[in-house]
Amino acid sequence: MQMITLNNGLKMPQLGLGVWQVDNGQEAIDAIHWAVDAGYRHIDTAKVYKNEEAVGQALSTASVPRDQVWLTTKIWNDDIRAGRTTAALEESLQRLKTDYVDLMLLHWPVNGYEAAWKELEQALVDGKVRAIGLSNFMPEHMADILEQGEILPAVNQIEYHPYLVQADTISECDAHDIAITAWSPLMQGKFKEEPLFAEIAANYGKSPAQIILRWCLQNDIIVIPKSSNQSRIKENGNIFDFEISEEHMVAIDELERGHRFGPDPYNFDF
Ligand code: NAD
Repeated sequence: MQMITLNNGLKMPQLGLGVWQVDNGQEAIDAIHWAVDAGYRHIDTAKVYKNEEAVGQALSTASVPRDQVWLTTKIWNDDIRAGRTTAALEESLQRLKTDYVDLMLLHWPVNGYEAAWKELEQALVDGKVRAIGLSNFMPEHMADILEQGEILPAVNQIEYHPYLVQADTISECDAHDIAITAWSPLMQGKFKEEPLFAEIAANYGKSPAQIILRWCLQNDIIVIPKSSNQSRIKENGNIFDFEISEEHMVAIDELERGHRFGPDPYNFDF
């Protein structure tokens, strides 16, 4: 597994399985077991996905020990306020049946994130989390954390795919050595509507999904594609044995159009 070294020295697997919209039961357990057996060493969940119990059960019965799998979860918006974040973290740990997570993120930049960040900093000191970070934080939100926080976020998880690269946010993260995780890297499945991926894929004997994920890897981005289908999980994991040429990288870069499949962090109401 290829790793990204974070600004706190930890190594984070560059491929993970995203489990948004995966049932809190056998579907999540099977998907995680298939992923681990296919070589994935990183799972991305969140309180709001309502499947932390199944994620915990899957990890405690997986073919490798818990400490071999990077586990990310997220503090949901209701808990991003003083006096709630620490309790929310404890509740996640209980559901996940573990005494630490590798990475805890603030899910969205809702009011109260500065106070919530202070509680995550304390959780890091207390050993409940190995790294802390942000999700959907745009440069203005990041500036507040950088100004008021004491610990640098290790990761910012943002929507990222060929139609949306969020260059301003990436350059702000690069300036502070904050790693980027791409959510919806496969454009929530809509990549099938873009013929260029299949055209490029034919040159490498790979699938369109593998081309997009590999393009992310070559841009130093961490990817967490979602699937609960065993053959797609394997396919999405089989992206470390080829390299996309500069010409094809540029052709994919040129698809950028500022198109979001998810909510806009500057304008959302949940
Ligand atoms: P995604 O871009 O990973 O697309 C997933 C969909 O693509 C699947 O449902 C399936 O329809 C299709 N697919 C997957 N593999 C395929 C393959 N090999 N061939 C053909 N089709 C394939 O979408 P996502 O679930 O939105 O994003 C991935 C993960 O990112 C989530 O599961 C979650 O963990 C995370 N996420 C985080 C946030 C956030 O706010 N931080 C928001 C959305 C998602």
